[in-house]
Amino acid sequence: MLGVTGLTAGYGRIEVLHNVDLAVDAGEIVAIVGANGAGKTTLMNVLAGIHPPFAGSITYEGNDITAMPAHVRVASGIVLVPQGRRIFGPLTVEDNLRLGAYRSAADRSDLTAMEEMFPILAERRGQGAGGLSGGQQQMLAIARALMARPRLLLLDEPSMGLAPLIVEQIFDALRTRHKREGTTIVVVEQNVSAALAFADRGIVMETGRIVAAGPSADLLNDTAVQDAFLGAEN
Ligand code: ATP
Repeated sequence: MLGVTGLTAGYGRIEVLHNVDLAVDAGEIVAIVGANGAGKTTLMNVLAGIHPPFAGSITYEGNDITAMPAHVRVASGIVLVPQGRRIFGPLTVEDNLRLGAYRSAADRSDLTAMEEMFPILAERRGQGAGGLSGGQQQMLAIARALMARPRLLLLDEPSMGLAPLIVEQIFDALRTRHKREGTTIVVVEQNVSAALAFADRGIVMETGRIVAAGPSADLLNDTAVQDAFLGAEN
């Protein structure tokens, strides 16, 4: 579904991603994990079309989309839940959801599905989104993205700043959605154990390079991955 070849990207003259290759099959859940500064957000922004790469190519469902603008990618099913949620604080919860459907054919039934997925969004439907807690805002950001009816959902650190119980609730809801709709999901995370527990497969990034990849269970049992990322959590 998604193919990345020789991707190099950065800011100004500074290269942050170095020759990244990766492939994601339709229906997979893939976690890209790595420490702060590994280049995960840069990669997600390049995949979403928000940040142009220096070199390399991206294919999606067989087409080269390297030069495709972000809004066209959304219309073709690639939707990003950005780091830090980026909800529209002054707007109501419902209006945030409706804005997610701007490029899609989503209707009332999509809205209902989102409110069933995260019931708090129904309770807060008419309230300003800026008044929601961090976890509720993350739920809203995910639901807003799903209103665009993605075929490839990109999630940038959905667990950031949230309590473990909320993180679990969010990943559970996403797993249920994935089972029902088969949406392909790529999630980048610093929370390695939560991300690998959620994903089928993991890719480990270090300073802009992929240094390990494999089934999540193998990575969780890999001593190098444990030493690098899971020490403090075990
Ligand atoms: P985090 O978990 O902190 O978001 P990350 O793995 O997502 O980390 P990036 O945010 O992609 O990593 O950052 C990778 C590198 O690029 C870092 O060294 C960062 O300082 C640098 N960087 C990110 N955004 C910019 C920018 N707008 N201008 C210059 N350098 C940037």
